[in-house]
Amino acid sequence: MHVLSALFRLTAALIAIIPAARAADCGPQALGVSRVIEIDGGERLALGLQTYPRTLALADREVVLTFDDGPAHGATERVLDALKAECARATFFLVGAHAAEAPALVRRIVAEGHNAGHHSYSHPARTLRLMSEGAAQADIEKGFRAVDAAAGFPPVDSPHFPFFRFPGFADTPELVRWLEDRDVAVFGADLWASDWQEMTPRAELELVMSRLEAAGKGIVLFHDPRPSTAAMMPDFLRELKARGFRLVHIVPGDGPTPIVHAKPGWTSATEAIIAKTLGPKGLRSEPQEEGRGVKAR
Ligand SMILES: [Zn+2]
Repeated sequence: MHVLSALFRLTAALIAIIPAARAADCGPQALGVSRVIEIDGGERLALGLQTYPRTLALADREVVLTFDDGPAHGATERVLDALKAECARATFFLVGAHAAEAPALVRRIVAEGHNAGHHSYSHPARTLRLMSEGAAQADIEKGFRAVDAAAGFPPVDSPHFPFFRFPGFADTPELVRWLEDRDVAVFGADLWASDWQEMTPRAELELVMSRLEAAGKGIVLFHDPRPSTAAMMPDFLRELKARGFRLVHIVPGDGPTPIVHAKPGWTSATEAIIAKTLGPKGLRSEPQEEGRGVKAR
């Protein structure tokens, strides 16, 4: 591991732990962070039961919050305000192009103790899966550099934040292996709020809480640029606390990363979604035309 990178990871872990320990500053009603898990990207991790047959080993009623597609002026700030009010911490899988447009927001995410991850540079409309492997790797690399530059970190060989989520969950085995070879942890999700669909904040809150009650725990995916998500976030965090859920924060570190395997009979839920979105071609990883520049999921 690069020395600067190692130093950064240690600092990130400390920054994450110190505010968590001081959650009482928000008062006893605040959600806070109950524990921090260090993720070691060197363990070849591809996690999240909607896409992969493994996930983080969380205790009952433990939740990890993740946000995709930001940063976006307005909505991301509202999400950050809500998290701050509850001394809560989350992981933001940032789109490189959006990070380049809003570097102050990236710095705010990091300064407030959140974890950052990557979500490609251009969030290609037809996904990284349908790009050539070289073009997909170049887009991912450009995203690493854009987020690091926005956060104010000098360029190094490895991304400062070794976390990646594929746009639309459309991975390929080759790209997953390439990321794992670079010690980057690949994250899917255990459940989501379906906030790429139009719905009222109330409906989104009820939907995600019902899914959380059914699953009992998990890595939850939201999209911070979505107005309904930004609007429901204060109520969602209060609801987590009221129903006895506890927040787990993930940070880069030395592990060992606690992993649990899926139950027998597991199947990917996201392949069906990808097939619906992209058609049968989306199920293969052959080089296809390159998609460009789309902001959605
Ligand atoms: Zn996305």
